[in-house]
Amino acid sequence: MEFRIDCTCGIPLKVSEASAGGAVRCTCGRMVPVPPLTELRVRAGLPPYHISPELLIEHLLRSGELPPDDHCLECGRPTDGLAFVVAECERAWVKGPGFFWYIIAGWVLGPLLAIALWWRRTEEPEYGKDKVYRLPLPVCPECRPNLRPREVREWMCRVGVYEQLLDKFPDASVSLTN
Ligand SMILES: [Zn+2]
Ligand SMILES: [Zn+2]
Repeated sequence: MEFRIDCTCGIPLKVSEASAGGAVRCTCGRMVPVPPLTELRVRAGLPPYHISPELLIEHLLRSGELPPDDHCLECGRPTDGLAFVVAECERAWVKGPGFFWYIIAGWVLGPLLAIALWWRRTEEPEYGKDKVYRLPLPVCPECRPNLRPREVREWMCRVGVYEQLLDKFPDASVSLTN
């Protein structure tokens, strides 16, 4: 598909996906840099598909596009039935010195300063972000009893975007939920 970018001379240019990240020549003679594909897609109001599986899943969950298919994963018949899986890929973590560090600081700097530092600790930024998703699997009521907890991962891999997620986070914990 084609996207539109603007040259500094004001002339709009049509660029293809293939020229993303490169440059095109405007009729005025200037070379105009073309943004990466993700940026072109977002600017055009499209989902940024060429992104990490977790961002894609967040996007699809928000826009109600999951599951991508309404055919039962087991028997292949169309179904409204859903089973939900919680996939914990990564938990948020807070960067900062451990408690032991403050004990030492209390010794060296004095308890009041150590307490002040400990207090400030809670204001430190949180790095990383919870990557925990509740994901719907299309499963008809007849096949639902066949979905056993230890087979959840295998069933998830029948959905492309979930498989990508598990490929990226092989240690993710997955469990059935309501
Ligand atoms: Zn131009
Ligand atoms: Zn079924």
